[in-house]
Amino acid sequence: MTQEELFKKLIAHCKEYGFIFPSSEIYDGLGAVYDYGQNGVELKNNIKSYWWDSMVKLHENIVGIDAAIFMHPRVWEASGHVGAFNDPLIDNKDSKKRYRADVLVEDWMAKQEEKIQKEVEKARKRFKENFNEEQYLATSPRVLEIKEKMEAIHARFAEALNANNLDELKQIILDCEIVCPISGTRNWTDVRQFNLMFSTQMGSTADGANTVYLRPETAQGIFVNYLNVQKTGRMKLPFGIAQIGKAFRNEIVARQFIFRMREFEQMEMQFFVQPGTEMQWWNEWKNTRMAWHRALGFGDENYRFHDHDKLAHYANAATDIEFNFPFGFKEVEGIHSRTDFDLGRHQEFSGKKIQYFDPERGESYVPYVVETSIGVDRMFLQIMSAAYTEEKLENGEERVVLRIPAALAPTKVAVMPLVKKDGLPEVARKIIDDLKYDYNVVYDEKDSIGKRYRRQDAIGTPFCVTVDHDTLTDGMVTVRHRDTMQQERIKIEDLRAMVDNEVSFRNLFKTIKA
Ligand code: ATP
Repeated sequence: MTQEELFKKLIAHCKEYGFIFPSSEIYDGLGAVYDYGQNGVELKNNIKSYWWDSMVKLHENIVGIDAAIFMHPRVWEASGHVGAFNDPLIDNKDSKKRYRADVLVEDWMAKQEEKIQKEVEKARKRFKENFNEEQYLATSPRVLEIKEKMEAIHARFAEALNANNLDELKQIILDCEIVCPISGTRNWTDVRQFNLMFSTQMGSTADGANTVYLRPETAQGIFVNYLNVQKTGRMKLPFGIAQIGKAFRNEIVARQFIFRMREFEQMEMQFFVQPGTEMQWWNEWKNTRMAWHRALGFGDENYRFHDHDKLAHYANAATDIEFNFPFGFKEVEGIHSRTDFDLGRHQEFSGKKIQYFDPERGESYVPYVVETSIGVDRMFLQIMSAAYTEEKLENGEERVVLRIPAALAPTKVAVMPLVKKDGLPEVARKIIDDLKYDYNVVYDEKDSIGKRYRRQDAIGTPFCVTVDHDTLTDGMVTVRHRDTMQQERIKIEDLRAMVDNEVSFRNLFKTIKA
């Protein structure tokens, strides 16, 4: 199965099993807007808890807020979003399709990497056990040619982005002979800038309506509350403010399912530090965040850092954590050193002093900020694409199983009476009554046990508990584990401890190793 086929199957699976539906589907959907279904919302809530608790509960010096989506319009002037929150777009004149110019070039570079990898694989086959990859990469004329071309384009690309040189960006697209995937032609328009913010009117026209924006990031809600939180919480540097909330971007090219949405959710934490210590904290947060991802057990090789070619107007260092999605390594989270840009600009635009009095240094200053910013939806997609597995069983049957880490699984336990009579449903209900205050538990009595197992596998339920006739006399149930499909008999009174051991955030947090 190709990665593309896998991705299509995953999207279909998300819909079939109540994880994600296209928005307003009965009206044929709305571009790049999605709704989360009954299982999706549970997984999403668990992702948010994993993040929130790891920030707010595990760090004494991080607190949370929940700011409004609407903010004073001046906020977006101060932050630079009105003037500079642009993407460079380009149209293909034949297909009439619109693309992000920077993404076209990035995809071209990824293709060159793939070409090199193919050369390596060919050579490995040719030279067999004598193959020395390092030496081959350093000497093969073909590889060196691709590398040289790539490096030259990379340098031009970074320079063009930083200088906002749209003509050069187009020239790079032409020089790389990039074609439109739909029309196959190189008939491109010029590159133009496109502002990503959605705007609307607040108040009636008679009152003098104000243009307000739907926030394109949650971070500004934190910056404008910096003083409130610092003072009322008596916070001392370094300290952080965390927030989870919706953000909106009028993305030019909305592709790849929930990877790039127009309405999405962010989990952001702004960490306020002494000026001069920001690089140390940036490195520290890079490691902490990477460890948080890796603790989910999807394989360390599926994550990597990617430093930005173009630093945003507010940043002096920036890296992304990328995950190996079915469509390649792509950003899931950004870790940015934002300097004192945001607080400084709000100080300037609001006319209010936004400073911290440092008792150690005996002076006041505008703190520096290191931010960690991750999309809930991209995290969701990361988990679904890593968890989705098709397996052939020994008896020839196939099963689809979602290997979602147990702590994040939408449902933790499915309790099933073997038959719908003889008092078995009553025992099953009693087990549910005991567990339901702590865990998401479902009752299922329809179809054969095998079918019931498959249904639970498909939504990632870690445990199926079967009540049978022996249960009535020995007080034991059969627990079937999702990943191994192994079964064991355990006492009903031991059930809670067993479930807790596997699904608790406590144990997951203990595996985070920065
Ligand atoms: P990209 O380069 O993919 O557009 P970005 O660098 O603009 O992303 P940031 O502004 O750093 O993204 O936003 C932080 C995080 O928010 C991203 O790492 C991503 O997880 C999430 N995010 C950003 N834009 C979207 C979107 N349109 N849909 C879903 N998640 C998004």
